Amino acid sequence: MAEGTFGNPQVVEEEVDILIIGGGMAACGAAYEIGRWTEAAKAKGHNIKVKLVDKAALDRSGAVAQGLSAINTYCGENDPADYVRYVRNDLMGIIREDLVYDVGRHVDDSVHHFEEWGLPVWKQPGDEGKPLTAGGKPVRSGKWQIMINGESYKWIVAEAAKKALGMENIQERIFIVRLVNDKNDPNRVAGAAGFSVRENKLFIYKFKACLLVCGGAVNVFRPRSVGEGTGRAWYPVWNAGSTYSMAAEAGAELTMMENRFVPARFKDGYGPVGAWFLLFKAKVMNGAGEDYNALRGSIIKDEKRFGKYGMGIPGTCLRNHIMLQEMRDGRGPIMMDTPTALANLAKNMTPKEVQHLLAEAWEDFLDMTIGQCGIWAGENIEPDKKPSEIMPTEPYLLGSHSGCAGIWVSGPTDVGAPKEWSWGYRSMTTVKGLFTAGDGVGASGHKFSSGSHAEGRIAAKAMVKFVMDNKDWKPEMGRTVQELVEEIYRPVKTYLEHKDYTTAIDINPHYITPKMLQFRLQKIMDEYCAGVATYYQTNAKLLEICEAKLEMLKEDSLKMRAKDLHELLRAWENYHRILTAEAHMKHIQFREETRYPGFYYRADFNFIDDENWKCFVNSKYDRNTHKWEIKKVPYVQLVK
Ligand code: FAD
Repeated sequence: MAEGTFGNPQVVEEEVDILIIGGGMAACGAAYEIGRWTEAAKAKGHNIKVKLVDKAALDRSGAVAQGLSAINTYCGENDPADYVRYVRNDLMGIIREDLVYDVGRHVDDSVHHFEEWGLPVWKQPGDEGKPLTAGGKPVRSGKWQIMINGESYKWIVAEAAKKALGMENIQERIFIVRLVNDKNDPNRVAGAAGFSVRENKLFIYKFKACLLVCGGAVNVFRPRSVGEGTGRAWYPVWNAGSTYSMAAEAGAELTMMENRFVPARFKDGYGPVGAWFLLFKAKVMNGAGEDYNALRGSIIKDEKRFGKYGMGIPGTCLRNHIMLQEMRDGRGPIMMDTPTALANLAKNMTPKEVQHLLAEAWEDFLDMTIGQCGIWAGENIEPDKKPSEIMPTEPYLLGSHSGCAGIWVSGPTDVGAPKEWSWGYRSMTTVKGLFTAGDGVGASGHKFSSGSHAEGRIAAKAMVKFVMDNKDWKPEMGRTVQELVEEIYRPVKTYLEHKDYTTAIDINPHYITPKMLQFRLQKIMDEYCAGVATYYQTNAKLLEICEAKLEMLKEDSLKMRAKDLHELLRAWENYHRILTAEAHMKHIQFREETRYPGFYYRADFNFIDDENWKCFVNSKYDRNTHKWEIKKVPYVQLVK
């Protein structure tokens, strides 16, 4: 085959049975699990070919790239039904309880595997060295969280996935741009197209089923980190909404895309606060040194505005609301009182133990947000001497952490859920053959790393069944290879055609650089769709402007240039972000209430309205007409 050039890439076509798109926690779960089911299929005479493609390298790709210091979902001694109650409370009453319960009852098995593969899980005194499966009691930082030495977490999970699937079935540094529907059945997926980010090659895959697990969406909103901090974000910058946009374009129903997560994190470095709150029992105070939660935390008990949601343990968004109110009223900055927390813990410790405690405080960051250590070192912050500032970040869209944006999927059949919530194959979207897990699954947050892995495994099993049930079906793509090549390489063509028109490569009336387009998207979302610029507030008029500006941005996105493969990647990431942003905006526009105060406010409906809005909001995008259909879907409570 002829070598490709930048302007004329080599096209490689391949047919498999199952394509896994992504290499994060859910994908690794699927890759690990799928072998045992394809082996079983082989025994019945079916040879199922599976391939995994990741835009990055499996060892360090996705949200767990830097490692983690806690596994946030491990049920252990707790009842999965109680896990459902906790998730429902945190997500303001609206979740798919069937999906959450299913994760709850399966998640521990993934955690046991992680430990078996070499992940060090902290144990309580006396149980050191005793595995969880042998009754070793983990150190819990909260009811559901367990502490780990997790710098190499992703490496360990990826190693198991690679070993199970075989490197010959894994392709790294392939960015998938779009799914292709079947020629004869438009509500079915038949293929996917993408390109290598290292070589001039374009890949077209045909398949019977695919698992779309490209994580959440980051850099949709203008980040707080600008200038020298550009590129720093809380969730991984390389997850650009590919899951939601590709699924939407294939015709899959999305759910709860109005949901977002605005984590309160250590300012500028996005360092995690979980261990500080839960393990070190630190408190936050306002600029005057007051415990504002004790003084004014009762504002969320305003029943007219927050219903019953502020009465019990407040959800994450309501805790943010108290903090934001403090900031809005001019009583910032908000400070994490690390010195008092460490001093309290050190009271009954030997100097050596205190030293160890301080090392743990640093390691918490070194394990998962190394940049925060840079901030501490650079600003001379010794946590036992100086408090650190906390700040709510820009919004993120995700379905596995403390948010529930995502895709509407088929659930388990044995937990009493409405019949219409399951349509044959667990984890399949409303498009035939298209499955998802982790950040992809909507209305089922708080799965975190372990739950995403477990969900990938659940989906893997269902995909094998789907393929076996459709063994004689042949995928036929609804678009030609030529069309796909032209579309995907359009930014390159635009660049090559017009680059000599001016002498300054970035200034050219014929194209827009991906970087500039991204700035424009972020500015629109920040100022009109409840970003940090407006203290997370929006209203119908602002959303109307947002809608019109996004429409124009979509038009201009066709003029993005790519001067190299890296820019081609950036161009398509932006395209995925725009569609994801549009889904988010449309859902916020549709839901005329403020379901998540502290994450965003509809200033024109600034209250929780259970009577009219205790329901899912689902949407469908028509890629030919570019129109969205949005509807309410009844919420059903399964766990008392
Ligand atoms: P990811 O693991 O993010 O994987 C997405 C994959 O898709 C990546 O491999 C990426 O390279 C690939 N990809 C993206 N786009 C494309 C494309 N177009 N084509 C091909 N491949 C693509 N969990 C815990 O349990 N405990 C914690 O303490 C914790 N803390 C966290 C702290 C931070 C800072 C972050 C970022 C996450 C944290 N999490 C934690 C959450 C956990 O990491 C996620 O829930 C989990 O990784 C989600 O899994 P996923 O497979 O859906 O996505």
